[in-house]
Amino acid sequence: MVLIERDTFGGAAHLWDCIPSKAMIATGNARSFMGRAMRMGLRDEGSSVDLDKLKERLRGIESRLEGSVRTLLSSQGVEMIDGIGSLLGPNLVSAVSDDGTREIEADAIVLATGSRPRVPDWANIDGDRILLTRDCYPPPVLPDHIVVIGSGVTGVEFVHMFQSMGSEVTLVVSRQQVLPQKDPEVAAALETDFLARGVKLLKGARATSVERVGDEVIVSCDDGRVARGSHALVAIGSIPNTEMLGLENAGVVSERGYVPVDVHLRSNVPHIYAAGDISGRLPLSSVASMQGRKIAEHAMGMTVRSHRHLDYDKAASAIFTEPEIADVGLAEADAFAEGRKVRVTKVPFASAAKALINDDSRGFVKIVSDPNTGVVLGGSIVGRHAAELISVIAVAATNGLTVSDIHESILVHPTLSEALSEAAE
Ligand SMILES: Cc1cc2nc3c(=O)[nH]c(=O)nc-3n(C[C@H](O)[C@H](O)[C@H](O)COP(=O)(O)OP(=O)(O)OC[C@H]3O[C@@H](n4cnc5c(N)ncnc54)[C@H](O)[C@@H]3O)c2cc1C
Repeated sequence: MVLIERDTFGGAAHLWDCIPSKAMIATGNARSFMGRAMRMGLRDEGSSVDLDKLKERLRGIESRLEGSVRTLLSSQGVEMIDGIGSLLGPNLVSAVSDDGTREIEADAIVLATGSRPRVPDWANIDGDRILLTRDCYPPPVLPDHIVVIGSGVTGVEFVHMFQSMGSEVTLVVSRQQVLPQKDPEVAAALETDFLARGVKLLKGARATSVERVGDEVIVSCDDGRVARGSHALVAIGSIPNTEMLGLENAGVVSERGYVPVDVHLRSNVPHIYAAGDISGRLPLSSVASMQGRKIAEHAMGMTVRSHRHLDYDKAASAIFTEPEIADVGLAEADAFAEGRKVRVTKVPFASAAKALINDDSRGFVKIVSDPNTGVVLGGSIVGRHAAELISVIAVAATNGLTVSDIHESILVHPTLSEALSEAAE
């Protein structure tokens, strides 16, 4: 087995996306916890961010992760090529590296080249004051005032990150709600928190230009409004890395750059699979890695036994803001829009002793279940450790467990998970 990677083994998730963004958020969170320390009985308050230390920490995490990926792969006998891969034909791959060009014959090929941030033609990204997410690990200086364009998952995480590190933040929201794809109640909880933290929301405004004028950055919107800051971050989605992949040489069909796949993650050429962001499914690391596992099972002929297809509707996801947001399965708003009868139970964290201990009782747990059978269909959590806690609802929703199955489990006291048990009552 051969794996070709042009950058870091472990992928952009380790180098550019999930891991460095969450590591920076962890630093911001530590700073904001320190800001609340006096309320919890400590004397010193606040601290400033050391960007050099932060950079060192990020590089340390990245190299440790890459090291363990390389160790794992070589222990499994995988040959790793540091180079650029492309298709020369349906069974022929080229790998261009410092050692030259190699042609590799293969009877199964997995395409998993990921995506990169979308750069609009109205933004002159300079990596200095007009930034993409990948310029932020860490940015050259901590912005005094950053204007974030894009209020999807990535945009709101970066709002939280910069605000918690001490920057003033303005968020340009093209619709009337941040996180337009999420349950409105969940989005509203985040908006309330942003406003309480002094984040300015420019709603119903679509950015049309970003210009640098001296030390200032000016973001103009389609309705004539203007946001000014010291920096701007453009976070308006991503595009798949498929244009140099030689898809046409192998007859692989793509649509808008994505490679459509069937339930086994096969492209239109049956032995060429596509996983991760280029498959055009849920762009999450967790989904990409499960897709990889399903491809391995299929390519090795393991699907003849009882086999579970990947159920994208049951993929848990989280937004690492503060409070954290996590959800899985059917959302209350979607059930309502479909006219589907569901039972919705909601418990605020304020009722959990652990929330008082943490001095943070923001948020709630919401469980959506079938009113006749009690089977858990989905749920949302807003609050501390939501990304961890959602696992309980995810396991229940994926495996057809009922609310009683959750409620009959004896959980640890005092923990935030007790709110889950109450919501399942
Ligand atoms: C800011 C940000 C934060 C995110 N946070 C999270 C999160 O917290 N949780 C989560 O689940 N998801 C998160 N995501 C999404 C997640 O990063 C992606 O869904 C995931 O990385 C996709 O995995 P992948 O394998 O498709 O691609 P990638 O992880 O992008 O890996 C693709 C790899 O292919 C390599 N490559 C590309 N072309 C070639 C070529 N021709 N030859 C050789 N190598 C090539 C690239 O160098 C890269 O290493 C985040 C995304 C962003 C932008």
